[in-house]
Amino acid sequence: MNHHKPKHECGVFAVFGHTNAAELTYYGLFALQHRGQESAGIVTAGKSGSQFIRHVDMGLVSQVFKGPDLERLKGRPPESEFAKGRATEDYPKNTRAIGHVRYSTTGSSTLTNAQPLMVDCARGQIAIGHNGNLVNAALLREELEDKGSIFQTTVDSEIILHLLAQPSDGGNVLNVLRRIQGAFSVVMMTETEIIGFRDPHGFRPLSLGMLDGAYVLTSETCAFDLVGAKFIRDIEPGEVVIIGENGIRSERPFDDVRPAFCMFEYVYFARPDSIISGVNVARVRTEMGRQLAIETPVEADIVIPVPDSGNYAAFGFAEQLGIRFEQAFVRNHYIGRTFLQPSQLIRDFNVRVKLNLIGEMVRGKRVVVVDDSIVRGTTAMARVKNLRECGAKEVHLRVSCPPHRHACHYGIDFPDPKKLIANQHTPEAIAGYLGADSIGYLSVPGMIKSTGLPANSFCLACFNGEYPVPIPEGAGKFVMGKERKSLAPEVSPQAELFGKLK
Ligand code: AMP
Repeated sequence: MNHHKPKHECGVFAVFGHTNAAELTYYGLFALQHRGQESAGIVTAGKSGSQFIRHVDMGLVSQVFKGPDLERLKGRPPESEFAKGRATEDYPKNTRAIGHVRYSTTGSSTLTNAQPLMVDCARGQIAIGHNGNLVNAALLREELEDKGSIFQTTVDSEIILHLLAQPSDGGNVLNVLRRIQGAFSVVMMTETEIIGFRDPHGFRPLSLGMLDGAYVLTSETCAFDLVGAKFIRDIEPGEVVIIGENGIRSERPFDDVRPAFCMFEYVYFARPDSIISGVNVARVRTEMGRQLAIETPVEADIVIPVPDSGNYAAFGFAEQLGIRFEQAFVRNHYIGRTFLQPSQLIRDFNVRVKLNLIGEMVRGKRVVVVDDSIVRGTTAMARVKNLRECGAKEVHLRVSCPPHRHACHYGIDFPDPKKLIANQHTPEAIAGYLGADSIGYLSVPGMIKSTGLPANSFCLACFNGEYPVPIPEGAGKFVMGKERKSLAPEVSPQAELFGKLK
């Protein structure tokens, strides 16, 4: 694993102009928890010029924010102020907030890297939450360090803050944005505004909504449903929206390029109840299952999903072929985090703690097991073994996306391509290795067709190796800068464990 390379699978949320900004953001982050479980944070502010308040910590949203933290984020004065009679319960509430959930599997899994990041520079206070991955981060960081910038964190998002603080760019957000390359869906808070922007290819999602006249930004629309906001529209690839006292305005600082939305968001990453580019994610997954059944049919008695990631595709697959759909794997939803050091024993437990098989449903049957993807093959191998042990007569693996053969440089965490099983082996060899009677992957055209969207609107780099944004030489050297080394472990034990657990 290249531990110098930060990878973020993050979620961002922002509110402008609501007296419940802090609580709305807190709940918004709950809806985005699947996008990052390592750390969470919120920064709030009141009227223009007021002090930003920040709370970030490692862990799940439910662990990071306790009652008093939320009170502070709301802008509630300290108890001593109440005691002295200098504060009353109708204190002015903070009306602006940005929030972030983060998942990183690299050595940079530390509290200092938790977002939103916040600085107080010549330009004033700025806070930022970033989803994505800057491909020219190493080069920009080196350039900034040569000019004397002192970095506090090892995340690429900090580069945006340093660029903003540079007098040469006049602190102009639009100038700064033209310098960064790669995948970025960002929410930012300045002394007066909330700014949201998406890179020109629009790799990661970002949507705009409204609640009680206040603007809301979120990585995924499922968060609008939770807080009761009305979806207005997606932020366009390459669009910058600036929300202030006088309303919202939109800028387009980038050259026009083709959209390249991450297909893997539809396949696995986004929540099924989200709508991206006008299309519901669950519907796409069901279509992917149907299409997979058309492309790789098989005679079988039952179709079972690997929950939860394979649920919709398995349903579509079963429906298409008229085969019975069974939920034979039972998922344990209460695992949370474990901090045991990885060992073979622990790894084996980890594969089993999440799912258990109802043996009698599969005994003597020809079983199709559907999952959204095979990365290293760990999950699939364990499931096939489990099915055999429980007496399944045949086990046919069906995967609702094409083989993963290439690295992602735009924010999805995949291991080194050498560890991608499909990078090293043919599907036939993989079936043999995993112990399955057959294996079938969805084709690239079939996958695109399932979305109903134009073929040239996606990034398919992890499947076909065609990278919409070139990866500059030395990109992988980020992030410690030159010879510096991380003090954090190369791979956090929990990342190692949870990488396997999905
Ligand atoms: P593996 O066991 O390495 O083959 O991983 C495949 C399983 O992990 C599938 O069940 C996927 O749903 C899930 N998965 C795929 N990509 C990721 C990712 N980037 N992070 C976490 N889990 C993933």
